[in-house]
Amino acid sequence: MSADRIAVVPGDGIGQEVVPVAVDVLDAVGNFEFVHANAGDAVAAETGDPLPDATYETVADADATIFGAAGDTAADVVLPLREAVGSFANVRPARAYPGVDALQPETDLVFVRENTEGVYAGIEDEITEGVSTLTRVVTDDASRDIAEFGFDYAVENGYDDVTVAHKANVMRETDGRFLDRCREVAREHPDIDESEVDEALMDALAMHLVQRPTDYGVVVCPNLAGDVLSDLAAGLVGGLGLLPSANVGRENGLFEPVHGSAPDIAGDGVANPSATVLSAAMLLEHLGYDEEAGRVRDAVESVLEAGPRTPDLGGDATTDDVGNAILDEL
Ligand code: ATP
Ligand code: MG
Repeated sequence: MSADRIAVVPGDGIGQEVVPVAVDVLDAVGNFEFVHANAGDAVAAETGDPLPDATYETVADADATIFGAAGDTAADVVLPLREAVGSFANVRPARAYPGVDALQPETDLVFVRENTEGVYAGIEDEITEGVSTLTRVVTDDASRDIAEFGFDYAVENGYDDVTVAHKANVMRETDGRFLDRCREVAREHPDIDESEVDEALMDALAMHLVQRPTDYGVVVCPNLAGDVLSDLAAGLVGGLGLLPSANVGRENGLFEPVHGSAPDIAGDGVANPSATVLSAAMLLEHLGYDEEAGRVRDAVESVLEAGPRTPDLGGDATTDDVGNAILDEL
């Protein structure tokens, strides 16, 4: 069998500093073919195009992509790249780690967010002077896909609670459809007990997540709700430098830290690489390397607990110090 092909797209700012750490980590645990490509502000300044066709194709053809961040051109880069991998699910774990200050130190949540429609379907109009509208799209297919993905994810990753976030009491037609499809999938799902499936109004859920995050496991969300609630949960566990994400497609996937290009610290060599290395662990899992993914996660956890730590976590270590410590653990 030939080696899995991983596209490497560092992008802008600290993406250039943290992605190489993730590549070293991937290289340490597996035999991969890396294909380097770029996108973002720097590429746009040079070529006029933030996302060259060659990069799009490299990502579309790869088995998986590790991506850093794009600055001002983020929307022109990330949205098409998510499309290039046919991503229908955005997975954002929010976990607290020993040794890291967190508002809610027991938090262990995973948001599974619909990634193709809802209010982000891009249908906005000014219908007349002073009045704008937005069309929210919810389909049976996308709703079933995200629900199935969420239930499978819960089973495969050892979570026994699944919560479906919605606002079907107000958005009866759209979230009503979303909720109905989720209920169907829940009934059909052999491994999750129906009593463990919870439906939550997204506004009340926001409050409960702050107060009692440990009541929740996997949270299946429509697009916008998932965006907002996962950022809220990020605030519970203390710091953008720790949060990975996956844009999962049928065949491939795009894995990226939740943080952006962090222009305030870019070039200083002090960005925390943990979020990107944890994204690489999600990539490994997506490709079926569960044991390797577990080892990478354990190594990151050990370093978070024992140090060295970058300044965002109160230390004075560099990106490379942390990267080398993770590699030593491995
Ligand atoms: P962008 O427009 O690219 O999103 P931004 O200015 O919003 O850039 P973010 O990357 O979203 O910056 O980061 C927000 C804050 O969190 C910044 O102060 C940044 O320094 C900090 N931060 C983000 N990621 C990291 C990281 N990996 N390590 C340390 N600090 C980080
Ligand atoms: Mg930002």
